[in-house]
Amino acid sequence: MRYGGVEGVKRRRLVVEESSTSTVSNSSNVIETVSEREAPAGETSVFDLDLLDCTICTEPLAAPIYQCENGHVACASCSKLTKNVCPSCKQPTGSIRCLALEKLIESLKVKCKYYSLGCSEMVKFSDKCYHERICSWEPLACPFPECSFQGQYNFFQEHVKLRHGDNWAPLVPETDVSFFMKPTDRYYMLFDKGIYFMVHRRKSSLGDMCYLSLPKVLSACYGTGTSFHYKMEIKTVSNVDGATLSSFKVDAHCCNEDSKASSIPKDGFLIVPEDRSVEVSVLFLPPRLSPKFGNSSLRWGDP
Ligand SMILES: [Zn+2]
Ligand SMILES: [Zn+2]
Ligand SMILES: [Zn+2]
Ligand SMILES: [Zn+2]
Ligand SMILES: [Zn+2]
Repeated sequence: MRYGGVEGVKRRRLVVEESSTSTVSNSSNVIETVSEREAPAGETSVFDLDLLDCTICTEPLAAPIYQCENGHVACASCSKLTKNVCPSCKQPTGSIRCLALEKLIESLKVKCKYYSLGCSEMVKFSDKCYHERICSWEPLACPFPECSFQGQYNFFQEHVKLRHGDNWAPLVPETDVSFFMKPTDRYYMLFDKGIYFMVHRRKSSLGDMCYLSLPKVLSACYGTGTSFHYKMEIKTVSNVDGATLSSFKVDAHCCNEDSKASSIPKDGFLIVPEDRSVEVSVLFLPPRLSPKFGNSSLRWGDP
């Protein structure tokens, strides 16, 4: 194994492998390159992926890439920001493309940083950041407060069933789902394959405010601002014999949270007395929605 720059590998068509010893906690950005024509045990080269970052803004380089007459490279936006003058040597950068580097980057495929956790996708270098934002193998923090669990999207249902006692129910589209919340229950999770909703019951000056949200960490594949139409009815029940005392209804949309889970909705909530147990019924209505990205076979609402 030898170490070299990009030049050290330019004559070979390469399959790029991340070092097999790398883990998520290993922040090393070094990748190992192996020629397709050689056995994996043959000659390999290693170079640092940081070499493919713009030296000015440190973002990963992407076409078009410009260079000055002395060979300093800059990404398109930095080239524009510096008014096409190389910050290193003051030579013009605007018109000289660095096609070799563009081709290298275009052909470069790398493993996702969650490879060691199970993601087997080889992604284009230029798509790496985007993929890792929506990768279903990213460890996510459980949205229940005071729960320190971190796990992959695909395993969250198992976690919620195991650890969150009675504070969850399976969801069926276009079918009423009903459950009880005690005055002390602040969160209740509803889920179906690939989708999670959180029912909140939080204190406010008027009483307890009840509403639904899509927990941000578990709904990234639906894109910010995606909304789901639902009807919710809340009946307050006697703490003594469970008899219905009063009923509140709301017809609303619940949005993918675009900020912290603590954000309070401006509408679509119900206020219930803070000392009452409640029976909540939720009904989700069409239209059915597909995620904007991520697992495209996932379409909540399909039978
Ligand atoms: Zn830049
Ligand atoms: Zn220069
Ligand atoms: Zn030429
Ligand atoms: Zn991935
Ligand atoms: Zn949890």
